[in-house]
Parts: sequence; structure tokens; C-alpha cells
Amino acid sequence: MHEILNQLNELSYNLYWTWNNDFRAIFNEINRDYWKWSQKNPVKFLRSINDNYLFDIIERKNLKDKIHKVYREYREYINRDTFFGKGKLDENTPKICYLSAEYGITKCLKFYSGGLGTLSGDHLKSASDLGVPLVGVGLAYSYGYFRQYINAQNRQSELYEKNDFDTLPMSLVLDEDYRPVKISINLPGRKVFAQIWKLNVGRIKLYLLDTLVDENNVEDKRITDILYGGEEEKRILQEILLGIGGMRAIDALGINVKGNHINEGHSAFLIFEKIRVAMKKHNISFKEAQEMCYYSNIFTTHTPVPAGIDIFPKWMIEKYFRGYAENELGISFEQLFEEGDLTRNQANNDHFNMAYLAINNSNFVNGVSKLHGKIARKMWALPQDRSQIVSITNGVHLKTYLAIESEKLYRKNFGNDWLYKPGVWESISELPDKDIWKMRNQNRDILISYVRERAVDRIRANHESEDRISDVQNLLDKDVLTIGFARRFATYKRGTLIFRNLERLKKILANDKLKVQFVFSGKAHPKDEGGKYLISEILRYSETEEFRNKIVFLDNYDIDVAKQLVRGCDVWLNNPRKPLEASGTSGMKVIANGGLNFSILDGWWIEGYTPETGWAIETPENYETMPENEVDNFESESLYNTLENEIIPLYYKRDENNIPVDWVKKIKGSIKDLAGQFNTERMVKEYYEMFYSKVK
Ligand SMILES: *Cc1c(COP(=O)(O)O)cnc(C)c1O
Repeated sequence: MHEILNQLNELSYNLYWTWNNDFRAIFNEINRDYWKWSQKNPVKFLRSINDNYLFDIIERKNLKDKIHKVYREYREYINRDTFFGKGKLDENTPKICYLSAEYGITKCLKFYSGGLGTLSGDHLKSASDLGVPLVGVGLAYSYGYFRQYINAQNRQSELYEKNDFDTLPMSLVLDEDYRPVKISINLPGRKVFAQIWKLNVGRIKLYLLDTLVDENNVEDKRITDILYGGEEEKRILQEILLGIGGMRAIDALGINVKGNHINEGHSAFLIFEKIRVAMKKHNISFKEAQEMCYYSNIFTTHTPVPAGIDIFPKWMIEKYFRGYAENELGISFEQLFEEGDLTRNQANNDHFNMAYLAINNSNFVNGVSKLHGKIARKMWALPQDRSQIVSITNGVHLKTYLAIESEKLYRKNFGNDWLYKPGVWESISELPDKDIWKMRNQNRDILISYVRERAVDRIRANHESEDRISDVQNLLDKDVLTIGFARRFATYKRGTLIFRNLERLKKILANDKLKVQFVFSGKAHPKDEGGKYLISEILRYSETEEFRNKIVFLDNYDIDVAKQLVRGCDVWLNNPRKPLEASGTSGMKVIANGGLNFSILDGWWIEGYTPETGWAIETPENYETMPENEVDNFESESLYNTLENEIIPLYYKRDENNIPVDWVKKIKGSIKDLAGQFNTERMVKEYYEMFYSKVK
């Protein structure tokens, strides 16, 4: 009994389980309701269940072998030879420190808001798969990002739920005397302390800083309460903690770091801290230390517009950095402030720009798609005598988003280690159409059951009449072309573009033979009234006679909802206002599950789109100068036309076995051409080859 429980326990503390379908299936089998209640968190699950009772179930349901098997695979995974090296990661190999304000790893770790977070999480997961020497640093938010509720007026409301770190897959870092390791930072009139949590992401360690400690005053305890709360001064404190505190944590933990990957500007204050340490260590001047540190900084920008960049007013920088500049760095405050100015000589500049700080001080700078890199190069024309901005297109961690049924298909045809077989994606063309179509039908079925279950849960939670339950049990249709749209409801993503010509949409949805249904999901930032309004609009439409049961909005979009949607949808719709989608990643998540992309040619889709892989929404040639209203008209027309003339007819064009052979051909084209390309394994390899391996 002890062996099996120990194995479960060890597994539960390594986030390897977040991309292992077999492990999660075990908990589902032990007790499905309980698994749901725990928010799919094995640590909480195991903590709150009696050992004897658990062991009985394991015996009764014959789960022992399954657990041993997953455990064995996990040990093999940790010790496997990799792209980077042989066997286990050597503790002493100099590492790259990857810093991000958010990490989206799994549902129960609410330390993320959207795409930037899932990208950071996927970066660590693939670094683990590849054995790249890397360590992650971030913040342990006691509340994190909000939970979305839809109130009776169809408005988004927000609830912040406390994270109970003790029942999450993370552990406090302790010293030899079992006391928490702490770092501190001097702030005006006080010192702020932080403790450090450790998370295992496969072979990679992620360290998160937490200011909820006794030494801090009430205000400082709240530095790490919520993510992107919208208060400027809280944000600068979080960024000081992430950048400066992050460096001190790495030092306190004795980790050998050779370079820092600043993922978006939030952690860029680390630049000053590194200079400070180098000055002291080598007894050199600010300028000398700055020159020296430049070569080991890596900066990834995610914003294609100047307005999207992290900026602080001069007085605030002065408040927190005058003392640091004069006493620690031996320079004037003005000199420090100039680092947040791209040209370092702009008169009357009264704002400090975190991206400029990072660009000025990083030898390696990149945008997150080919187009975005190009825009960034134009936006920030850098002097020719320094390294230029390059492009590394984003990806997704394939296994995290892969449906059980899709994985089964790949395993059955290509063997257990299918993912690591060269040429596996090309071989997809050889699979029988009927097998691919069966996988699609299963994936869609599971999504629709999930949508229905969520609707039932909501009725129960709202204490609505039980009669309502039979209504929602027939929500959506398992055989119908299912189109998904889910992401943050930032207004530039135009969540309601499909409703632009209501009569046209009504006509499309009124067709009884060629049926279509839509599933929407997404959260708006609490202070984004525009985004919240879009959500209300969709909810309102979903309740009208014409759209009822054909348009569904799932509340509280998170990684788990995202997983369900990208596995189940036939088509993934994306219609951002070009060129504001630096990359976008959600569309990449559908590929290996057999979903097809239908998107504006922005971000990654310009690189991914061909007539063999999916569909494009056309953008007018002069979109940059055209009034937004007219662009919306043009693009929505293209959207309706493609939907009516191409997508819907293709889906319903069946052979004698009721298989849509041309549709399946497109799925094969999409998997063959895109799955091997738009993943974080390829992406992390590029970071390694272009940047990490060049840092001395
Ligand atoms: C993948 C993902 C995103 C990113 O979606 P985009 O369409 O690229 O903006 C945001 N949120 C969650 C929960 C995701 O899983």
C-alpha cells in the first residue's frame, strides 16, 4: 500500500502530470466528482481522501498496474537522454533563468491571465522535454487572476478566490534549519521580504516569490495578491520583486545562471540588479558592468503597438530608484532614468518604458512571429552597430492540449514514442480517412457532453429549477459542424465580429440541412468595460429565438476550458484586428486534435495558412489607413462568404460511408504541415540555438 501511495504522491508534486492523460484518467476513475471538486489538483485530492479508503478503491478498480506504469514512465522521462544531453539534467550546468509575470501550467495554479501565461508554462514544459538547462522565476499570487461569473444581467462579474498553497503542487523552499528561505529588497522607508515556492515542471524547476510573510507590513503582504489588478504602484512593486527579487532568489538558492530571458518587460528591472552585483563582484564602474551584462540578457517582446507597453511615470521611478541609483549603482537618478528611453537622450521624457530598458540592455531581442518581428524592427529602429530584433514564432506544448482520443490514434499507428519519431506528422497522410473522422467525432462528442455538464452545474449552482436541466441536456448537437472562439476578450480580438451582419448570420444558422453551432468563451480584464460589453452581447444573442442552442457561451475561460474547446471544435475562429495579434497561440492547440483554423492573416497564421491547411479571412489592402468600421465590414463579409461557400459545404460533403473525405484531407494537410512547426519544442530549440547557447 505504501509503495503505491508514495508513487501517487511523488507524481502529484511533479507537473509532468499536466501533460499526462493517463495520470489524470486515474483520478477520474478513482472518483470523478472528487476530481472535479479538487479542481483537477492531485495534491488536494490525495490530501483530502483517507489512505485506506483510497487504497480500497485502487484495489477494487484494478488501478494498481496503471499507477505503476505511469510512475515507471515518469521515471524514464526524467532520466531520458534528450536533445540537450544525456540522462538527468546536471545540477551544475549553467542555466538560463526565464522570468515571466504569469505562468499558465494547469487549471488549479491560477497564476496566469491568458496567452502570455500559457506560453510561459509551455516554454518550461518543452524545456523539460528537451532537457534544456533552464530555471523559471515568477510570482506566487495568493489570489491570482479572477474567476468569471455571469450575473443575471448577463454581465461579467469577478470573484477572487484564495489559492491555498499548502494543497497545491508546490512546496516552500526551506533552509537547513527548516526555516523558509527569504530574500529582501530595500524600499523607501522599509524593507520588503519574500519567501520562495518551488514547483517541479518535469525536470525544470520554477521558483515563485511570495510576500505574504510576517515581516512585511499589511500593504507589502499584498504585493503578490492579484495578477494585473490595474493599480500602477502595485505593478511597479510586483515588477521590482520579480526582477530584483528574482535575481536575489536565484542567488539565495545557489543556482548557477549564465543568462536571463526577460519574457515581456515585466521583469526588466533585473538589468539594474545584475549590473549592481557585477560592479561589486569585479569592482568595476557602472558602464563597465553594463557592457558586461548586456551579452547575457535575452528579451522577448509580445506587443506590436507602443500603447501596449509597460510604462511608469518618472516620479514613481524616482521614488523607488533614486536611492538605488545613487547608493548602489553610483550613478545619478537621471542617468538611470535614461535607460528607459530608447534613444537615451530624449529631452523632457517623463515616462520610463520597460521595453526600452530591456532593449537597450539585451544582446538578444525577438518578436513572436515573423510579422511581429518585422513590425518591432520598424517600431524600434535600432542602431545598425548593435544586434537587431529577430523573430521566433510562438508555439504550444503539444501534449498538454492533445485529446485522449487523438493520442490513442497516434499511439496505435506510430507506437508509444510516436511524438519523438522523425517524420511522424508526414505519416498522417497514410492513415485511413475513417480513423481520422472517428477521432474527430469522438473529440466533438466529448466537448458537447462537457458543455452540457457545465450548463447543468450552472443551473444547480444558481439553484434554478430542476426543470431547466432537461432543457440543457440537449444543448448543441453531436453531429453538427462546431466552431469555437475563445480567448481573452480584449477589444482588438473582436469577439463579436461574426454578429456584424445579424441577418446574414441568422440565415446561416437557420439552415436545417447544413447546420452550424458556435461555442464562445473568454474573460475581459475587470477594468475593460469594452471587453465586458462584448461578452454581454454574445450572451444576449445566445438567448434569442434564432440562436438558442446554436450559440453557447461557456463562463470562466481557463486552461481547462481551453483544452476542452481546442480538442472538440471542428473549426477554430480567430478574427483579431490586424496587425495587433503578435502571434496568437490558441489556434495551434487545435491542430493535432484535427481541428482546422479559420483566421485573419495575422500573427502565426500568415506563416501557417495555405489552402491545404485551413481558411483565411481576407483583409483589405489598405487596412492600415481605412476607418476601422470599414475594415470590420470588409472582413466580416469575407468571413460570411468563406463560411457559406467553402467551410459549411465541405463539412457536409460526404461519401457513401458518410465520411467528409475532402474535409479529412484538409485535416491531414493541417496536421502534416503545421503540427511539427507550431509547437514549443521547435520554439525552445530556436531559443536555444539562436540565443541560449551563445550566452557565455
Ligand atoms: C491558449 C490560451 C490563450 C491564448 O489564446 P489566443 O487566442 O492566442 O489569444 C489564452 N487563454 C488560455 C486559457 C489559453 O489556453
